[in-house]
Amino acid sequence: MNNKPKPISQPESDKYWNGLKNKEIWIQKCKTTNKYQFYPRVHCINCTENDIEWVKISGEATLFSFAIVFLAPTPAFTDDVPYINALIKLKEGPIIPTNLVNINPDPEKIKIGIKVKPVFEKIDENLTLLKFEPSEQTSN
Ligand SMILES: [Zn+2]
Repeated sequence: MNNKPKPISQPESDKYWNGLKNKEIWIQKCKTTNKYQFYPRVHCINCTENDIEWVKISGEATLFSFAIVFLAPTPAFTDDVPYINALIKLKEGPIIPTNLVNINPDPEKIKIGIKVKPVFEKIDENLTLLKFEPSEQTSN
């Protein structure tokens, strides 16, 4: 189904969304503290300097936490359940809420801390979503 809610474009996040269309992940980094932040903001969450730059990252990450969704939150997600909501911890530090895909939604098979890699899910010409999948196929 195609009537899922979509992210609403914001000037401070356009760089992120445009990067995903090209299968690139861009996040913000503070030039003063060298700390990264996600989601994109107009200000720095680590200090008061607001000297932020955009950097392209590899998407190397691990599974920080997850929940398996069995009951669709709206009818638009009925065909997707069960699916996995996940918190993905980037190598650079920030944690991204997204979906873990290409793995059985079985709590016995999914392990916190497994390595994951990005999946770029093209929704339409204007929107590509960043999801993650296990880096190595486990025995499921
Ligand atoms: Zn800062």
